[in-house]
Amino acid sequence: MNFKTLDDADLAGKRALVRVDLNLPMEDGKVTDTTRIDRILPTIREMSAKGAKVILLAHFGRPKGIDQKNSLKQVVPALAHALGAPVTFVGDCIGEDVAKAVAAAKNGEVLLLENTRFHAGDEKNDPEFVKALAANGDLFVNDAFSAAHRAHASTEGLAHVLPAYAGRTMQAELEALSAGLDNPARPVMAIVGGAKVSTKLDLLGNLVKKVDVLVIGGGMANTFLAARGVSVGKSLCEHDLVATAREIVEKAKAAGCEIMLPVDALVAREFKANPGHRVVTVDDVAADEMILDAGPLSVAEVVLKLDTIKTLVWNGPFGAFELPPFDTATVTVAKAAAKRVQDGRLVAVAGGGDTVSAMNHAGVADDLTYVSTAGGAFLEWMEGKALPGVEALRKG
Ligand code: AMP
Repeated sequence: MNFKTLDDADLAGKRALVRVDLNLPMEDGKVTDTTRIDRILPTIREMSAKGAKVILLAHFGRPKGIDQKNSLKQVVPALAHALGAPVTFVGDCIGEDVAKAVAAAKNGEVLLLENTRFHAGDEKNDPEFVKALAANGDLFVNDAFSAAHRAHASTEGLAHVLPAYAGRTMQAELEALSAGLDNPARPVMAIVGGAKVSTKLDLLGNLVKKVDVLVIGGGMANTFLAARGVSVGKSLCEHDLVATAREIVEKAKAAGCEIMLPVDALVAREFKANPGHRVVTVDDVAADEMILDAGPLSVAEVVLKLDTIKTLVWNGPFGAFELPPFDTATVTVAKAAAKRVQDGRLVAVAGGGDTVSAMNHAGVADDLTYVSTAGGAFLEWMEGKALPGVEALRKG
């Protein structure tokens, strides 16, 4: 690892500011999914056991100034419950109240400070705000990969003014991502699906330079099919991006990257669950039909190709997986990938937005090498961009 981790940190008796992701989904004041809490527990427990005063910093929502609707106070019960230890909440993230609470805390105790975004200085990475945050810490640990694509005071600024380390979740994420694209076992396949090409242009541009096989699925495949002159009927298709799709195909050819597009599809006349569908080759889509999933031949081709692949990076479903039976291609390929991971034949890293729910839906989230819950940060990493919060943790 080129990053300082908790192994490099002297924690006993230290005031440790720990940036975590507590931007939890809530309904009626209750946390509805504790995945993000579960992910930060190892870091908190290890630091606490090593005698640090663990001072958690996080944002919640997109408040403009102080707004109790976005107070982190509401996540304290769920956090304390998961941790199995009390969590002291402080109603600000800078200033005297924080200093007093930290001074009163015993080594090993856990504090949660109020939403960093209640201060405009966080998102502005304002040096004065960084200084105010740093005043209450001896060191900084970043365990929020999902916020690492933002150069904010609590994700990036602090790493420049305090000794800075990657937390265990950040470390696991960096190790998995590095095995996925930076230093992968070859051949490498990327699967990129999802709704639209327009949101994934940078990602495709980067991947064609880095991977050996690029599988394009989902609604975005329709734009590539249209670029080949295929009539896609009423399918989701960005006709204005047909020339861009052609350019991506040319770039891939020049880089020696094989592009795989669907050869058949599940089509229907209505966008709903079980609408009645047919399986057609892609050149047989009627004018009033929509492609809503890749067909069995396309799936078989991808699965067969997977046998030649050592590393898989995956973002975006093959079809409208929320509506059965258009989850079939995504589920079948996900299970095939999971089996190869379990057999020790494949490293498979998946992530970004809907991909996590797609992998959960396929029941393989625990069987892939790594599933990243980071949305924007995972996509920017796939785009080949440097993530400021990660760069700030590099050694030397
Ligand atoms: P993204 O957030 O870009 O990964 O897109 C995910 C969304 O793409 C999911 O909600 C899918 O339902 C949708 N999707 C995938 N394939 C298709 C398709 N062929 N037609 C319409 N929507 C699709």
